[in-house]
Amino acid sequence: MLPYKNHFEKLELIKSKKIDLVENVKYFLNRIEKEKRLNAFNFVFEEEALQSAEIISDKIISGNHGALAGLVIGIKDVLSIKDKPLTCSSKILRDFKSIYNATVVQKLIAEDAIIIGKTNCDEFAMGSSNENSAFGNVLNPVDETKVPGGSSGGSAAAVAAFLCDAALGTDTGGSIRQPAAFCGIYGLKPTYSRVSRFGLTAFASSFDSIGPFARSIEDISIILKSISGYDKKDSTSSQIEVPDFTKSLNLKSENIRIGIPKEYFSEGLNEEIKKSILELIQNLKNKNISITEVSLPHTEYTIAAYYILTTAEASSNLARYDSVRFGKRSSKIDSLNEMYKNSRSEGLGAEVKRRIMLGTYVLSAGYYDAYYLKAQKVRRLIKEDFDNAFSSVDVILTPTSPSLPFNIGEKSDDPLEMYLSDIFTTSANLAGIPGISIPYAKAKNGLPIGVQLLAKQFDEENLIKATKIIMELAE
Ligand code: GLN
Repeated sequence: MLPYKNHFEKLELIKSKKIDLVENVKYFLNRIEKEKRLNAFNFVFEEEALQSAEIISDKIISGNHGALAGLVIGIKDVLSIKDKPLTCSSKILRDFKSIYNATVVQKLIAEDAIIIGKTNCDEFAMGSSNENSAFGNVLNPVDETKVPGGSSGGSAAAVAAFLCDAALGTDTGGSIRQPAAFCGIYGLKPTYSRVSRFGLTAFASSFDSIGPFARSIEDISIILKSISGYDKKDSTSSQIEVPDFTKSLNLKSENIRIGIPKEYFSEGLNEEIKKSILELIQNLKNKNISITEVSLPHTEYTIAAYYILTTAEASSNLARYDSVRFGKRSSKIDSLNEMYKNSRSEGLGAEVKRRIMLGTYVLSAGYYDAYYLKAQKVRRLIKEDFDNAFSSVDVILTPTSPSLPFNIGEKSDDPLEMYLSDIFTTSANLAGIPGISIPYAKAKNGLPIGVQLLAKQFDEENLIKATKIIMELAE
């Protein structure tokens, strides 16, 4: 077991020489080896991690170090790390190496974090179970017969199984929050544009957000602070000032107003999850926290709008994997068209192909107005639902997922059933707002239950404050 609960404690222990950072990295490397069957990592950077540990250990002891000094972190394999493989867990990028660092990676390095490897995920971040990976599926460390959630399943499993201190994931429709809920840890999706997407392989560019997984809210806050901020290399990144999120934990939080969206407690929600969230709501009321019911009337259209818009964006973004500049070329290349067709047919997996076809269809001349344009309008209505709700409450509390972690293989033959796992998470990406999943409770069989909090754009502070209240109730 680790002798610290969060990064602040770890730093103190290193400073006072109660723990040795090189030994700490070795501990994680041994754990990665021991828990190899979880399949959480696509690549492990053993030598570099040990080298960095030596250098950073000296920096910490001399008192001249970054905010994340010695934090051992895994990076989802859709983010660029210079000179390292960037596969997106796809066969088509199996041999691809990145020639530059993603801005988030650069920022982690600048704050003296130690990158231990690249984590497994669904191919191009498309999925809810991490079963769509060319590297094979990931097991849930809490119960290895279950999926860890997706698409950032490797990141969540790695943190939950103590293979690293924290990890970065990406969330286009729930891929940080849902695996965090399934593995029993914290996962935060920032406001769209809060964190630069430079160096992130695009899935759906107007939805994609990068965010942290950790075992404590303290670590979530400090990582979020370090990776946020304007970046001239991403013209969509926001210039809005980044608060010191580590201070949010100490702000007064009793006055926070929590909204409960009535549409999220309808049929299809697992009974145990429902019971546990209703209990939490009662406990909050008992603590005199303001709880009101709110309405998000367009909730029933979120999955449809999400899967039209994201597949449209994906079909465009993934056009670059044509084996000319990006992507492994097929050996069957009698003509230019054959080359494109065979390279893409061989290199891309079934789910990715399904989405490219769906996206191409909804963008095609005859169907554009009926699907793409309509879904854009619905997106606006969903955003307005949230604007209305946030005029009377500070945060919205919901379950993260409608189900407990499901069995491996249980939903993989039924895409629609799989898409419904995203029912509570996609709305935040449609509206561009931040969300967090908190490991609140456990079901009778020991599987984790996650609670989701949503806040208005750029209000991660209230998410963190409300998380603190919920944590106190969980303890
Ligand atoms: N499960 C959702 C999907 O498959 C979300 C993916 C994500 O957030 N990257 O699209």
